[in-house]
Amino acid sequence: MEKVYQAMNTLEAHSLKGLLVSHQIDCVLKGEALSAAVGELPTDVQGVTLWVAREDVTRARGLLREYEAQSRTHWECRECGEDNAGSFELCWQCQHSRDG
Ligand SMILES: [Zn+2]
Repeated sequence: MEKVYQAMNTLEAHSLKGLLVSHQIDCVLKGEALSAAVGELPTDVQGVTLWVAREDVTRARGLLREYEAQSRTHWECRECGEDNAGSFELCWQCQHSRDG
Protein backbone atom coordinates (compact mmCIF):
# COMPACT_ATOMS: atom_id res chain seq x y z
CA MET A 1 0.00 0.00 0.00
CA GLU A 2 1.08 3.58 -0.59
CA LYS A 3 0.03 6.78 1.12
CA VAL A 4 -1.81 9.07 -1.29
CA TYR A 5 -3.32 11.73 0.94
CA GLN A 6 -3.11 13.39 4.33
CA ALA A 7 -6.62 14.42 5.33
CA MET A 8 -7.39 17.42 7.52
CA ASN A 9 -9.76 15.42 9.72
CA THR A 10 -11.78 12.21 10.00
CA LEU A 11 -14.73 13.68 8.14
CA GLU A 12 -12.63 14.59 5.12
CA ALA A 13 -10.88 11.20 5.23
CA HIS A 14 -14.23 9.41 5.11
CA SER A 15 -15.63 11.46 2.27
CA LEU A 16 -12.44 10.85 0.28
CA LYS A 17 -12.60 7.16 1.02
CA GLY A 18 -16.16 7.19 -0.30
CA LEU A 19 -14.97 8.95 -3.44
CA LEU A 20 -12.24 6.37 -4.10
CA VAL A 21 -14.47 3.40 -3.32
CA SER A 22 -17.09 4.74 -5.74
CA HIS A 23 -14.36 4.44 -8.41
CA GLN A 24 -13.61 0.83 -7.40
CA ILE A 25 -10.41 1.80 -5.59
CA ASP A 26 -9.86 0.03 -2.28
CA CYS A 27 -8.75 2.46 0.37
CA VAL A 28 -7.52 2.17 3.95
CA LEU A 29 -7.53 4.97 6.52
CA LYS A 30 -4.67 5.15 9.00
CA GLY A 31 -4.46 7.36 12.06
CA GLU A 32 -8.17 7.07 12.73
CA ALA A 33 -7.84 4.45 15.47
CA LEU A 34 -5.60 6.86 17.33
CA SER A 35 -8.25 9.60 17.31
CA ALA A 36 -10.90 7.16 18.49
CA ALA A 37 -8.67 6.12 21.38
CA VAL A 38 -8.38 9.65 22.72
CA GLY A 39 -12.17 9.86 22.78
CA GLU A 40 -13.05 13.35 23.96
CA LEU A 41 -10.43 15.22 21.95
CA PRO A 42 -11.56 16.81 18.69
CA THR A 43 -10.71 14.37 15.92
CA ASP A 44 -9.35 17.03 13.60
CA VAL A 45 -6.28 17.40 15.81
CA GLN A 46 -5.10 14.07 14.42
CA GLY A 47 -4.08 13.64 10.83
CA VAL A 48 -5.73 10.79 8.98
CA THR A 49 -3.92 9.33 5.99
CA LEU A 50 -5.37 7.49 3.00
CA TRP A 51 -3.59 4.45 1.60
CA VAL A 52 -4.30 2.54 -1.61
CA ALA A 53 -2.78 -0.45 -3.38
CA ARG A 54 0.26 0.36 -5.51
CA GLU A 55 -1.55 -0.30 -8.80
CA ASP A 56 -4.28 2.21 -7.86
CA VAL A 57 -1.96 5.05 -6.82
CA THR A 58 -2.04 6.93 -10.13
CA ARG A 59 -5.82 6.82 -10.44
CA ALA A 60 -6.31 7.71 -6.78
CA ARG A 61 -3.97 10.70 -7.04
CA GLY A 62 -5.88 11.94 -10.09
CA LEU A 63 -9.20 11.78 -8.24
CA LEU A 64 -7.73 13.47 -5.18
CA ARG A 65 -6.31 16.28 -7.31
CA GLU A 66 -9.76 16.89 -8.76
CA TYR A 67 -11.18 16.94 -5.26
CA GLU A 68 -8.59 19.46 -4.10
CA ALA A 69 -9.17 21.73 -7.08
CA GLN A 70 -12.90 21.60 -6.34
CA SER A 71 -12.55 22.28 -2.63
CA ARG A 72 -10.50 25.40 -3.34
CA THR A 73 -13.44 27.04 -5.09
CA HIS A 74 -15.68 28.45 -2.41
CA TRP A 75 -19.28 29.55 -2.80
CA GLU A 76 -21.48 31.78 -0.70
CA CYS A 77 -24.83 30.55 0.55
CA ARG A 78 -27.75 32.62 -0.80
CA GLU A 79 -29.78 31.90 2.31
CA CYS A 80 -27.42 32.73 5.17
CA GLY A 81 -24.31 34.13 3.46
CA GLU A 82 -22.05 31.41 4.83
CA ASP A 83 -18.84 30.64 2.95
CA ASN A 84 -18.81 26.98 1.83
CA ALA A 85 -16.10 24.79 0.29
CA GLY A 86 -16.64 23.82 -3.35
CA SER A 87 -16.92 20.14 -2.46
CA PHE A 88 -20.15 20.76 -0.51
CA GLU A 89 -23.48 20.67 -2.32
CA LEU A 90 -25.39 21.92 0.72
CA CYS A 91 -24.60 24.82 3.00
CA TRP A 92 -23.04 23.34 6.14
CA GLN A 93 -24.67 26.05 8.21
CA CYS A 94 -28.32 25.98 7.09
CA GLN A 95 -28.50 23.00 4.64
CA HIS A 96 -29.67 25.28 1.84
CA SER A 97 -28.65 23.83 -1.52
CA ARG A 98 -25.85 25.40 -3.51
CA ASP A 99 -28.01 26.19 -6.52
CA GLY A 100 -30.68 27.84 -4.40
ZN1 LIG B 1 -26.61 28.76 4.41
